[in-house]
Amino acid sequence: MSEGLVTVSYIGATILFILTLGGLSNQETARRGNLYGMIGMAIAIIATVFGPEVTSNVHLIIIMMLIGGTIGIVLAKKVEMTQMPELVAILHSLVGLAAVLVGYVNFMDETISFPTEVEKTIHEVEIYIGILIGAVTFSGSIIAFGKLSGKIGGNPLMLPARHWLNLGLLIAAIYFGYDFVHQGHIDGGNALMPLMIMTCIALLFGIHMVMAIGGADMPVVVSMLNSYSGWAASATGFMLGNDLLIVVGALVGSSGAILSYIMCRAMNRNFISVIAGGFGTDSSSAGSSDAGEDQGEVISVETDDVAGLLLDAKEVMIIPGYGMAVAQAQHTVHEITQVLREKGVNVRFGIHPVAGRMPGHMNVLLAEAKVPYDIVFEMEEINDDFPNIDVSMIIGANDIVNPSALDDPNSPIAGMPVLECWKGKTTIVMKRGMATGYAGVQNPLFFKENTRMFFGDAKQRLDEVLKELL
Ligand code: NDP
Repeated sequence: MSEGLVTVSYIGATILFILTLGGLSNQETARRGNLYGMIGMAIAIIATVFGPEVTSNVHLIIIMMLIGGTIGIVLAKKVEMTQMPELVAILHSLVGLAAVLVGYVNFMDETISFPTEVEKTIHEVEIYIGILIGAVTFSGSIIAFGKLSGKIGGNPLMLPARHWLNLGLLIAAIYFGYDFVHQGHIDGGNALMPLMIMTCIALLFGIHMVMAIGGADMPVVVSMLNSYSGWAASATGFMLGNDLLIVVGALVGSSGAILSYIMCRAMNRNFISVIAGGFGTDSSSAGSSDAGEDQGEVISVETDDVAGLLLDAKEVMIIPGYGMAVAQAQHTVHEITQVLREKGVNVRFGIHPVAGRMPGHMNVLLAEAKVPYDIVFEMEEINDDFPNIDVSMIIGANDIVNPSALDDPNSPIAGMPVLECWKGKTTIVMKRGMATGYAGVQNPLFFKENTRMFFGDAKQRLDEVLKELL
């Protein structure tokens, strides 16, 4: 493929990637957005592999792509919807690892020559920054994977003087960066040593940064690592002199940063505090001190009570959470919605921005079940409507409807806006037992006078309700 054709393909792919982001910003166009992304990526891969830059070993690249692609297909087919966030985290780690490996290969490549010292320095800085971002992304994403999959506990690791530790690591990384460039320009200099020391520092920094994040702040970390993986890819693009990779990496990096900002705003968190770690957990009662603690009696109900409450209602608000994803109850939820609407009940959905385990998790599930978009509302659109709601139906949600986020300044989720369903007439909470949610804190909502606990697996119990309604 000629250089001209590669450039045209790269421009085409860039436009498709921009259209992808545009498409993904709206549920109705998300599918199309994904399609643009897939076509753009196919064009990008073909143009790169068959372009003039690849002069040998094309067959090896194709074999490796087939092996990698097969592993990807098998994993994607096997993974449950609830494991999606972990999969995304581990994929981010691979982007980071790729940036580190490309950086080292570039550093060791003796065939690259530079006409001027300035160009050599620029290349060295690209390598250094690429490996730095890549290593932070790699180790941070592995820890995020551990936290999201429950292999590592959700409580923040609060080392003494942790901010000083972070600052120390940053200063050390800058110092070794200077040393790396300096060693590269003196005869007999050993630039590999500072590069390797910095890699260890960056790996440590990634681990420490994510370990210090409290459970409920994980959504911000996931989107932040998404952003880092973009910048790591962009840095790889600079190292390889590949314009498309630079642009695509910057698109991912900036959109991930915007998403992190949106998530921070939604959770009423200060971005810097979240990155610095352990936001909202300084108090002695932080963490899961009240997890599982009995806060009084709960009133539990059975299927016929729930069906009766729903049929008597005029205004119903359904609030789905992580438990709906676990139970895969979205299709039954849709069927119940249809039956109630046919009977003249106004049913709406209230979606919290961090419900589930990844941004947009609930929207994806509801779209899959074909719930009409026009009855699905964001939290800020409907939070003032609760005094007019007859029945709020909480389906496997916990943290996102926890009043202590507003009432208890010592709670790890203090300050996070929540869906204020308790202001309605009756709240039905569906969950299997009294276990806490992701943040590990007990929920006073369950003990309120107007709350009815409907225990059991959400799908199973909703199937029973549906039968009762028909
Ligand atoms: P939570 O994790 O707070 O609560 C989910 C509830 O679902 C649990 O209390 C559980 O109770 C119940 N549940 C689990 N399985 C079932 C089932 N089969 N049937 C019925 N109920 C079930 O989820 P929320 O959606 O309320 O809140 C999300 C939390 O996750 C927030 O803390 C958020 O910060 C965090 N988070 C969000 C991410 C995002 O990007 N959206 C990413 C990472 C973390 P029980 O076991 O008793 O059934």
